[in-house]
Amino acid sequence: MSDIETLKQESRIFNPPAEFVKNANISGMETYKAMCAAAERDYEGFWAQLARENIAWQKPFTKTLNESEAPFYRWFEDGQLNVSYNCLDRNLQNGNAGKTAIIFEADGGQVTKVTYKELHDKVCQFANGLKALGIKKGDRVVVYMPMSVEGVAAMQACARIGATHSVVFGGFSAKSLQERIIDAGAVAVITADEQVRGGKHLPLKSIVDEALAMGGCDTIKNVIVYKRTGANINFVAGRDKWLDDVLAGQAATCEPEWVDAEHPLFVLYTSGSTGKPKGVQHASGGYLLWAMLTMKWTFDIKPSDVFWCTADIGWVTGHTYIAYGPLAVGATQIVFEGVPTYPNAGRFWDMIQKHKASIFYTAPTAIRSLIKASDADADVHPKKYDLSSLRLLGSVGEPINPEAWMWYYKNVGNEKCPIADTFWQTETGGHMISPLPGVTPMVPGSCTLPLPGIMTAVVDETGHDMPNGQGGILVVKRPWPSMIRTIWGDPERFKKSYFPEELGGKLYLAGDGAVRNEKTGYFTITGRIDDVLNVSGHRMGTMEIESALVANPLVAEAAVVGKPDETTGEAICAFVVLKRARPTGDEAKAIAKELRDWVAKEIGPIAKPKEIRFGDNLPKTRSGKIMRRLLRVIAKGDQITQDVSTLENPAILEQLKQAQ
Ligand code: ATP
Ligand code: MG
Repeated sequence: MSDIETLKQESRIFNPPAEFVKNANISGMETYKAMCAAAERDYEGFWAQLARENIAWQKPFTKTLNESEAPFYRWFEDGQLNVSYNCLDRNLQNGNAGKTAIIFEADGGQVTKVTYKELHDKVCQFANGLKALGIKKGDRVVVYMPMSVEGVAAMQACARIGATHSVVFGGFSAKSLQERIIDAGAVAVITADEQVRGGKHLPLKSIVDEALAMGGCDTIKNVIVYKRTGANINFVAGRDKWLDDVLAGQAATCEPEWVDAEHPLFVLYTSGSTGKPKGVQHASGGYLLWAMLTMKWTFDIKPSDVFWCTADIGWVTGHTYIAYGPLAVGATQIVFEGVPTYPNAGRFWDMIQKHKASIFYTAPTAIRSLIKASDADADVHPKKYDLSSLRLLGSVGEPINPEAWMWYYKNVGNEKCPIADTFWQTETGGHMISPLPGVTPMVPGSCTLPLPGIMTAVVDETGHDMPNGQGGILVVKRPWPSMIRTIWGDPERFKKSYFPEELGGKLYLAGDGAVRNEKTGYFTITGRIDDVLNVSGHRMGTMEIESALVANPLVAEAAVVGKPDETTGEAICAFVVLKRARPTGDEAKAIAKELRDWVAKEIGPIAKPKEIRFGDNLPKTRSGKIMRRLLRVIAKGDQITQDVSTLENPAILEQLKQAQ
């Protein structure tokens, strides 16, 4: 696992604009260093002070961190709070009652604005409605909703009554939904009749029916249905209720259920990039704290900002940076129902222009697909739109290839917006490693430095620090407030997965490889540790080779995996999507040769892919991450027997199998 070689050095560096630094919430490297030093000096004191300053506690905590049952850490454990109270009521008290909380844009372009007062009232009615159905503190509620104000309100309403929500992305199948309902032991499902994406109506309620009919879901007593399209749907008497009926007659105030800081706010399943998804359990207090702090620190949030995170509420990014973080800091945010390519691939840019978004946060997979689209059609190029309202950009989900970073920086940010390349995970609750926009000189493809209080490091297989310049395993050395508390119902798997004995049992194992720059100490994620390549004894991460391929003007996306090889042990097999149509025959051979030579020149002959296959796309999770574990099986020529429940586009597997 350890000692990943990196051969290419990225030398481009971009300083944050002076104006930005001057006005930033964290301004300048000295301030950042002082904060890091404060955390080093008195770790618990550092967090305790922030937790007191940022959260409205119903009952103040006296204990900061309890490590007695490590790695089951407890933060602020004798404190009590309510997360929804912190997100809503506090804004009514702070003079934000009339401020727009959510600018909702539907798939078809209709815009609805909701103030903090309106959202508060809706959430209270929702919470009262849930209580009237007998749903109570500690119950689990599955939310299977389209992107909507109601989806956010459903999560907030659960938080308000102390029910633990488990949001399941609306693109998941009945089987995936059923598995999550059973695993969570949920008592209710909140869903919609249908969802609308890219002009198409897609079923939700009928998938819930199907999931519940598969059996094992007897815990479910209620299915609450939000009427999105008015489609004709099946109703099971006694079990199913329209949301409108649940809300009808309910008061617009609801005394929050005060819960202990460690009370589980939600359980969310990971993307499944590396295996079967894990039900990640988060606590209330520590999670809320970090959602707020990262909004302030990484996103430099100001009262006048229009914040837009394009993630779905079905992913952790949509939890922390839609459902909780922006509301907890009183921001105005955009919530978008649709997809980036409908009615055309200029949709994001059009919406930024229309709503004057100032902070924009999206995923590398979206950026790469929009680069490809705007290369093909100049009308949807970001330069065609007025994006001057933007002041800050963000990226999350995968390593961003340096060339995609450059395109984002130049064409979307007009070379004046810092980019926060935020490394984090479902398990971490919020950002871990990221440039701070008023602090950190940026290097394309590097997530740079950990946030203050976050003790990340690169170690070898035995848990010892690696020197800078040598790649290894990314770990976190100290518990932090928003960390995963356990895997729902499986504490043993939690321990084994995240605090393995091999590393001494005290280091949090992220599952990603990283290398720190010799001079700057900057972190670069090299890829998943499961995906490390070993060619003739040289250990390489996937990221570097993929980024070299993406830097070729012909290439839109690339994924590399190893396949067994008699002479080199492992040989590199690259799966490539071109910006133009998928080549075949002699053309494919010629381009493959060109790309092999290109990689040899960019990185070195050792990194040259032995085999290159072209596809129309790559197998991805529904959150847009490349699933290299499936490509490894294809490269080897084996049958796929792994978990593919979170795969977005199964048909692509056949195509890549055929492509030689
Ligand atoms: P599973 O854990 O089930 O395999 P997953 O790891 O894809 O799924 P998530 O929690 O959604 O589930 O994703 C976290 C992972 O995404 C990180 O471990 C890392 O590999 C990747 N990632 C996220 N942001 C970045 C980033 N800015 N740079 C590099 N990698 C990132
Ligand atoms: Mg993971």
